[in-house]
Amino acid sequence: MNDEHSRALYDRALSVMPGGVNSAVRAAIEPYPFFVQKGDGGHVIDADGNRYVDWVLGLGPLLLGHDLPEQVRAEVQRAASEGPMYGAPTEIEVDLAEFVVRHVPSVEKIRFVNSGTEATTSAVRLARGHTGRNKIVVMQGGYHGAQETTLVEGDADDPKPSSAGIPQSFAEHTIPVPFNDEDAMRAAFEEHGDDIAAVLTEPILGNYGIVYPEEGYHEFLREITDEHGSLLIFDEVITGFRVGGLGCAQSKFGVTPDLTTFGKIVGGGFPVGAIGGKAEIMEGFTPAGDVFQAGTFSGHPVTMAAGLETLKFAAENDVYDHVNGLGDRLRRGLTDIAADQAPNYTVTGTDSMFKVIFTRDGPAPSSLEEQCPAGCRQDPTCPRYDYSPKNAADVKNADTDRWRRIFWGEMKEQGVFLSQNQFECQFVSYAHTEADVEETLEAYKEAL
Ligand SMILES: *Cc1c(COP(=O)(O)O)cnc(C)c1O
Repeated sequence: MNDEHSRALYDRALSVMPGGVNSAVRAAIEPYPFFVQKGDGGHVIDADGNRYVDWVLGLGPLLLGHDLPEQVRAEVQRAASEGPMYGAPTEIEVDLAEFVVRHVPSVEKIRFVNSGTEATTSAVRLARGHTGRNKIVVMQGGYHGAQETTLVEGDADDPKPSSAGIPQSFAEHTIPVPFNDEDAMRAAFEEHGDDIAAVLTEPILGNYGIVYPEEGYHEFLREITDEHGSLLIFDEVITGFRVGGLGCAQSKFGVTPDLTTFGKIVGGGFPVGAIGGKAEIMEGFTPAGDVFQAGTFSGHPVTMAAGLETLKFAAENDVYDHVNGLGDRLRRGLTDIAADQAPNYTVTGTDSMFKVIFTRDGPAPSSLEEQCPAGCRQDPTCPRYDYSPKNAADVKNADTDRWRRIFWGEMKEQGVFLSQNQFECQFVSYAHTEADVEETLEAYKEAL
């Protein structure tokens, strides 16, 4: 594959942008990333004209793929051509707010912001303001954007900033615990229960290889937060309007969080975030309440039009059947290939999310017949159960270097674009086809 244009562009970028990119993960590909020229359905074409089946999809927002359906494109163009934004409210903000409130059971009121980071930052501030408490429990390895409260690693006894530039004294208000570990959560509440404002988690870890919750884990989180007067915040920036269809992951799991953060799909491919939840809590935001929240671009008309028309299109067409059906075929195909060629590896994901985690230990191939057929469900009767990644540490212990340094490039050479490392998940869009799935499974067969 020729890549001289991408190399030249990266050379220019390195002179004027730190690391040559505007978001760190894009440079995870070595020695340099390919630069995208344009999208085409479920594919992208790079600066040298190479075409790839695209399972990255902007890292999550593009439910419909790269070509917007006519009704979405028309509304986006109308909003842009009427003058991009005003600093005054517009009808389309109310339309999208009503749509989300109608479809997501826990959301009675919503505020739109401009990124998932802004959404989680504001949700954390709101939880602290509402409860008058300081501490936020997060899952180790969970990602909630580039913000001070959640860029914290270590454990409950020894939290530390995971980035330079964050004071240790900030990290002390964050309690990282392992996902799927009820004992660790109980211990955190025993020690700090009176000062825990909220537990903040993704319903499914989507930024750390895809880790599915154990049966009953979310119900447990709901109970322990209720017991201690803390809020439960679901970060549905990835899972929102992807897992569980228009009801989001919370409807799939049947658990009602107090607050939910959204991003990615809800903006239809344009910059977006949102915080939604119980009216009584949401009323804490200014100007209704005293938790300050504001944004010049919040509720941007072009974004609102793209988000609303995308979700309306999904409501009126077979979008979720299509993406979940192809996701299922991918996960089943990958499960068979892994059983033959790499029995240690764990296929993960649900709905339109998928990943193969290069776990190092696993059951003998002969015992694999009873395994989860289309992505790990943490099923205690599965022969893989003792080895399946249950939290971020388990994913980190997988063969992440082989994934990134060897496997990713072999897939790229075969025209398949996977996410840049072992940790980010991969997505199916409405524009993908069965042929894309077959081509991708063939490529995995070669590369695994
Ligand atoms: C992407 C993501 C964020 C951050 O959203 P940005 O729009 O990149 O700021 C927050 N939480 C989760 C779960 C995400 O996947």
